[in-house]
Amino acid sequence: MCITLMGVNFFLITKNFKLENANAIVAAAFGGIITADFCSGFFHWAADTWGSVDLPVLGKHFLRPFRQHHIDPTSITRHDFIETNGDNFMVTIPFLGRMVWDFIALPEEEMQKKFTWNCYVFLLAIFIAMTNQIHKWSHTYFGLPGWVVLLQDCHIILPRKHHRIHHVAPHETYFCITTGWLNWPLEKLRFWIALEFLVETLTGFKPRADDMKWAQKGSVS
Ligand SMILES: [Zn+2]
Ligand SMILES: [Zn+2]
Repeated sequence: MCITLMGVNFFLITKNFKLENANAIVAAAFGGIITADFCSGFFHWAADTWGSVDLPVLGKHFLRPFRQHHIDPTSITRHDFIETNGDNFMVTIPFLGRMVWDFIALPEEEMQKKFTWNCYVFLLAIFIAMTNQIHKWSHTYFGLPGWVVLLQDCHIILPRKHHRIHHVAPHETYFCITTGWLNWPLEKLRFWIALEFLVETLTGFKPRADDMKWAQKGSVS
C-alpha cells in the first residue's frame, strides 16, 4: 500500500509540477530528507540511551531490537523485506494517503498552495520508510546491488564506513541512520551530550544506565 501511494504521489507531483516554483520545491525536498535523518537519529538515540529492555511493551518491542543490534550488528542483514521495513512503511501510509487526497480533491489553487509542503512531506515519507532498509544496507558487505553502493559512495544514503562510528561502544554518537548528513554537525554541536545532560538534570535518570547494568552482570558472572 505504501509503495502504491508513493507511486501515485510521484505521478501527481510530476503532473502538477510548475517550473517557476522549482527552487522552493528543491529546498522543501531537501528539508524533508534532513528531517527524516534527524527523526532517525532522535528515535535511535532515545532507544539506545533511555529505559530498560525489561519495560513492558516498549522495552521488548522498541528498545531491545536497538540494544541487540549493538551486540549482533549483522543479524539485521538476515531480516526479510517485511521484517525490516514493515513498521516504517506503515507509519507513512496516512500521510501519503492524505497527500493523494490533497491532489485529487482540493481546488487547483489550494492544491498549488500546498504543493511545496507536500513535496516536503513526500521526501520525508520516502526517507522515513527507507530508513531501516538503508541501515540494513550499511551493514551488508556482500552482494549489494551496484546502484546501492553508488548511493552510499555519494553519501546520498548512509555509507557503511560512516555508520561504523556509531558501532564503537558506548554508542553515544552518530545516531542518524537515514543519510547520516546530520551526524557530523550534531557531533560538533555536542547535541546528544547536551540533550542527555538536560534529560538527566530534569529527570535524574542516567543515560545508558541499563547498558551499565548489563556490563556489571557480565563482569560478575
Ligand atoms: Zn545504536
Ligand atoms: Zn547499525
